[in-house]
Amino acid sequence: TIPPLGRNDFLTSQPIIDGTEVEAASTFTVANPATGGTLATVALLGEAETRRSIESNSRAYADWRKRSAQERARLLQDWLALVRLHRQDLGLLMTAEQGKPLAEALGEVDYAASFIQWFAEEARRLYGEVIPASSDRRIIVIRQPVGVAGAITPWNFPAAMITRKVAPALAAGCTVTLKPSELTPLTAFALAKLALEAGFPPGVFNVVCGDAPAIGSVLTSHPDVTKFTFTGSTAVGKLLTAQCAATLKRVSMELGGNAPLLVFDDADLDQAVEGAIASKFRNTGQTCVCANRILVQGGIHDRFVEALAARVSAFTVGNGLEGATDQGPLITRAAFDKVQGHVADALAQGGGIVTGGKRHDAGELFFQPTVLTGANPTMRLADEETFGPVAPVFRFDTEAEALALANATRSGLAAYAFTRDIDRAWRVAEGLETGMVGMNNGIVSTETAPFGGIKESGLGREGSRHGIDEFLEMKTINLGVR
Ligand code: ADP
Repeated sequence: TIPPLGRNDFLTSQPIIDGTEVEAASTFTVANPATGGTLATVALLGEAETRRSIESNSRAYADWRKRSAQERARLLQDWLALVRLHRQDLGLLMTAEQGKPLAEALGEVDYAASFIQWFAEEARRLYGEVIPASSDRRIIVIRQPVGVAGAITPWNFPAAMITRKVAPALAAGCTVTLKPSELTPLTAFALAKLALEAGFPPGVFNVVCGDAPAIGSVLTSHPDVTKFTFTGSTAVGKLLTAQCAATLKRVSMELGGNAPLLVFDDADLDQAVEGAIASKFRNTGQTCVCANRILVQGGIHDRFVEALAARVSAFTVGNGLEGATDQGPLITRAAFDKVQGHVADALAQGGGIVTGGKRHDAGELFFQPTVLTGANPTMRLADEETFGPVAPVFRFDTEAEALALANATRSGLAAYAFTRDIDRAWRVAEGLETGMVGMNNGIVSTETAPFGGIKESGLGREGSRHGIDEFLEMKTINLGVR
């Protein structure tokens, strides 16, 4: 039932602990959201297997932390080569279990690979410091791996969310137990299998999945885990952060956003429409940096809405494995119901549909790409992430009003703004309360730049030269000199 793959002997439908595929008495199934068909039956793991995985990480860590930077970098490069070699099959697998159009899945393989490459390079640049002190002292700061890391990742980027955590962890000299989403574990297993094939020692990178709360409770409480890193919803992120408090783990959190996208009268219309499409409709609206609220100034409002709706109504919607598509299914029934609920609520509160608004005939979990006008701050979609292909347009008059609306949320991940006025661009970029701003640009994610949020959108940064700091501790050596 896995789609037509080429060399697919690297695929497995089992978790991997200590270099070995794990069986279990209980199982769960992974479905294709485009068809509802079953893709794989997977061992359902819980607390005992997670403890076993952490023990294996601890054993492996004793050796792994001492490997030279060159050696860690070389293994990461070998893993990178295998991921690139299997680009097509990884893309097909991802489309099958996650639903994104194949072109986007292949793009995600490249994006995932970019983190492996970046951190393979960074592995050799873990510089320390020498601090001038008194004549009888030398102060040296070295950076050491934080230890065994626990990681939990979501379903919307089944490859990139993994490499963005695992590659810097391995580069730093940490070992990892990863729990991917039970909705999309197959890509994670494939990546772990390729890492083994590349030569990472058993126990350096384990993957468990099954009973998420049980696995999460061990990863956040086991004394041998010194670092915990999570990407997912704000509610679960807060819960897991609280769980980490008892053993005071180092914590990184990439949580939900509620990104505003501001279009000013002086924007380049085509650029603003392209940016809104790229930000809002990537992965069928299911990214944490997706524009959730589109705020448009009065003078450009009608032209922008018309141009956006023309593009959106021309999208090809369908199963990403059957020909070229722009939009796929939503991940689950609950996700579909939330999107439908947001649209119904907006209509009940005075919103109007320009295009879309209903289930799409491509299948049960497909929603029509939608543009909605007359959005206002009392609607559910103003406060919660819709996580679907719905672009709600709010109208504003002044820059101050736009900034106040944009910042009226507890989230602070990404924001976007479109203007050709350089002074306004600076004011707005500095005034937006988010970790990332796309200025005249709808895409903020790249391995070269820090990714992360402020306010309730998270703690820490991933990617860039800063991303590896999350897996390193500084040690001060204060040396007496006679
Ligand atoms: P989403 O809404 O994107 O599915 P979640 O936060 O529910 O976001 O899921 C993100 C990840 O967190 C997934 O791997 C999921 O299995 C995991 N998860 C959800 N609830 C818990 C929990 N109580 N403990 C540990 N992991 C959890």
